[in-house]
Parts: sequence; structure tokens; C-alpha cells
Amino acid sequence: MTHPTPIVVDTGTAAHPPVGRPEAVVDLAQVTRSYPGGFTALQGVNLRIHAGELLAIVGPSGSGKSTMLHIMGTLDRPTTGRVVIAGHDLASLTDRRLSALRARHIGFVFQAFHLVPGMSARDNVAEGLLYSGLSRAQRRRRAQTALARVGLADRADHRPHQLSGGQKQRVAIARALAGEPDLLLADEPTGALDSATGQTVLALLHELNRQGTTIAVITHDTQIADSLPRQVRIRDGRVVADTRNPSA
Ligand code: ADP
Repeated sequence: MTHPTPIVVDTGTAAHPPVGRPEAVVDLAQVTRSYPGGFTALQGVNLRIHAGELLAIVGPSGSGKSTMLHIMGTLDRPTTGRVVIAGHDLASLTDRRLSALRARHIGFVFQAFHLVPGMSARDNVAEGLLYSGLSRAQRRRRAQTALARVGLADRADHRPHQLSGGQKQRVAIARALAGEPDLLLADEPTGALDSATGQTVLALLHELNRQGTTIAVITHDTQIADSLPRQVRIRDGRVVADTRNPSA
């Protein structure tokens, strides 16, 4: 598959979107990632994610999911190949601009919620906006709005130990959403939850997607993958299937 260069007139900076409309939120072209010692965890991955999608990146342990998450999340760079996030080619960015791009365009949700103990849900969410340039009052207002989006407006003053596992994950989702990212990357978001609670978190992701958020769920769980409208299967560092499930 060939990937034409996106037609983008980029007069912006990493912190501000380029002028013109990027083709895709994520565009990976022939991406490889080799680790020291010579092991190649990604072997020529092509993947495009468009605005408004909800997809699973699914594969067994060791297939390269985390490596791909790190590259899509701009936490790591490929060994070879091209990575374009929201119209920005990573190769042309310094590490500083890459961090700015990440803060502006990507939200992360992990299996372990990574909330700061002893800090209210609202302040945990506001932490996600620390480098946004917003004032403290603005950050707290945005945090309150994000908590309302995940159904936790009335839990804003609760500390993590006063919240259930599902509620903690919803706070983590609110934190990821507060900056209004172009892409939400959710790494095994239900992995630490019982199955009923996991279902409610998945239902929330569906709802956020209906409201316009682009979401990639990284999972080893084929049942979760089956419940999402698009499924990208990876195995031994390659995309082996990319299917759509309109009924999901
Ligand atoms: P997954 O998330 O699907 O379990 P990973 O992306 O973590 O897979 O790993 C893919 C492969 O790359 C595995 O075989 C793993 O052992 C290897 N790998 C991951 N990180 C490193 C590293 N830092 N150094 C060497 N090999 C690594």
C-alpha cells in the first residue's frame, strides 16, 4: 500500500494545528521499530485513523501493541517509516515540539488509572491541563466539565480512595479528555475492572465517540475488539487484518 503525502499547508507550530485539513488523525506508513539487540517489534505497519473513528488494536501479548501505542502516542519514534499525527510529520519535529504536539492532540488512558492519591477528582483531571497555558481557575472549570461528560459531576471533590474502580477509570478518561484531544488512546482500559464495570467503561467510550471523540482501544481481548466498529489485528509486529463491523 502506498501512502501519498498529505496535502497540508503547515504554517503552524506543534502547539497549534496547521492551516489546512489533515487527511487523518494518525497516518503510519511502513513503520518499523527495532530494539537494541536487533529485535524488530514492528515490521512495516501501515495504519490510518480518521477523525471520528472508534477502533480496536488487538493482538496477543508480545505482538507489538505497546510499541505501536508508544509510536502513535508520540512517546517513541520509529526506526524507519513515516508517522504523521494530525498533519504533523514527527520526523520534522524536535523533542520539545513533539511534547507540545502530544499535549495538544493526544489523550492517554491506561489500565492502572494513575490518579494522584489525596487529590480530588477535579484536581486530578485539572492536572492533565498543567501545560495547556490555561489559568488554574480555567483548568478547574474545564476539569469540572470533563467530569460531567463522564457522569461524575457530583464526585468532583472525592479523592481516589473514595471512588470505585470504574469511577477512577472515568476520572482518568475525563483527565484525558479535558484537553480536547484529537485522539484518545486507551491501553487495556478495562483490564483492571470486573467485567460488568468494564462494560460500563466501554459504553462510555462508545458514547464519547458518538459525541465526536476519536478513540483507539489497545487490547488483547478479542471480545472487546469484536464490540468495536473497526478492528486492526496485529501479530508479530504486522497488521494481519483490518476489518469493519458496522453493527458494533
Ligand atoms: P504487546 O504490547 O503486544 O505485548 P510489545 O510491543 O510490548 O507487545 O512487545 C513486542 C515485542 O517487542 C515483544 O517480543 C517484546 O519482548 C519486545 N520488546 C518490547 N520492548 C522492548 C525493549 N525495550 N527492548 C527489547 N525488546 C522489546
